[in-house]
Amino acid sequence: MARAKLNLLNDNFYHIFWDKLAFVQQRSSTFRQLCAEHGIAVTHQRQILYEVMQGMDGHPSPEEVYAKIKKKVPAISLATVYKNIHLFVESGILRKMSMHHGSVRVEMNDEEHHHMVCSRCKAITDIGEKELGLAPRRRKLQDGFLVERYAVDVIGLCAKCQQA
Ligand SMILES: [Zn+2]
Ligand SMILES: [Zn+2]
Repeated sequence: MARAKLNLLNDNFYHIFWDKLAFVQQRSSTFRQLCAEHGIAVTHQRQILYEVMQGMDGHPSPEEVYAKIKKKVPAISLATVYKNIHLFVESGILRKMSMHHGSVRVEMNDEEHHHMVCSRCKAITDIGEKELGLAPRRRKLQDGFLVERYAVDVIGLCAKCQQA
């Protein structure tokens, strides 16, 4: 009995240990590893692009990313930035936001969250599930639809635009 308990304890410890290790590895995985996992070739430009984007908050547009990376790689073109962001999104390295805000935006927030979108100035702000007051989420919906992720866009007017 005592032995069984001990084994159980070891087993739990083992799982916690591996979960932690996997998490740490994921966090510190280099761009090179990411590319290998997602099947794209590593180039110097892509690496710098990725690093620049990791340093940005919120939902940068390709134009915003271009303005940043140009300071480091003056020769880079907006078309190249577009192409590589598209590649990052297609291969699953980065996530694209849902699309009715007029332009491509990349999601840099890894936590699950939703968005408040201003219909006038297009400002996008993250909002947590609790703040939004959503009902508990279901994993299965009608017609056998299996949920992977919930992303709610709340369209409205931001405080600034309400005063304008
Ligand atoms: Zn606004
Ligand atoms: Zn977001």
